[in-house]
Amino acid sequence: MRLGVEGLETGYGKAQVLFGVDLEVREGELVALLGTNGAGKTTLLRTLSGLLRPWRGRVLWEERDLSGLSPAQRARLGLGHVPEGRQLFPLMTVEENLRLGAAFLAPGREEEGFARAYTLFPRLAERRRQLAGTLSGGEQQMLAIGRALMGFPKILLVDEPSLGLAPRLAEEVLLALKRVVEEGVGVLLVEQNVALSLEVAGRAYVMEHGRVVLQGQAARLLEDPRVREAYLSL
Ligand code: ATP
Repeated sequence: MRLGVEGLETGYGKAQVLFGVDLEVREGELVALLGTNGAGKTTLLRTLSGLLRPWRGRVLWEERDLSGLSPAQRARLGLGHVPEGRQLFPLMTVEENLRLGAAFLAPGREEEGFARAYTLFPRLAERRRQLAGTLSGGEQQMLAIGRALMGFPKILLVDEPSLGLAPRLAEEVLLALKRVVEEGVGVLLVEQNVALSLEVAGRAYVMEHGRVVLQGQAARLLEDPRVREAYLSL
């Protein structure tokens, strides 16, 4: 499966935010999407999952043009989204939050989804009856990812999972995403933590002012003087 983006442009009201973005993510690869605040990364993810309409350009699922498909229809095809800020239901338990992610699944697959989420994040299993609002920040992020995985996505969009987390927890969350990728899911990861995400990603794109300005193998970008100067303060 391949999620492709061609010449994508969009914005809010009259303010254009994305200017001709081309990008792709395939099953089984972890692709980092980097860039300064306001570069348009969240806007891009929201356009991919159908929450925002493109002004121009296309979003392709293999050969299929996704324009006209609602976020729910895209989710059913296998496009998952872990939104910025996690968007959990604080007064529902861990298990209830997870179950919401299985809304589109055949009933028999729900157990499989729980098993997968709990294997990936054993801490969620220990706290399955706890209210989501009482979890630590790191646990909430694990729950948000677990909930998205309950829908068995082929491609998963993840917006800033390490935001507000201590470095050790941020690393734990990104390493969990790497295991998700090893299971065959494609992940497009928006991250402020450039060093860490280039270590776990296979490829990366760097956006500035709504355009992709650099792209390539993550290992190579980690050595790129422009990346080191602008994002790693080296
Ligand atoms: P950050 O890392 O800060 O989240 P980002 O790269 O994800 O940055 P976006 O959130 O996509 O950037 O924002 C891109 C631009 O679009 C910014 O200039 C922002 O102010 C603007 N923007 C974002 N959301 C809206 C909105 N709902 N209405 C109007 N403008 C918006």
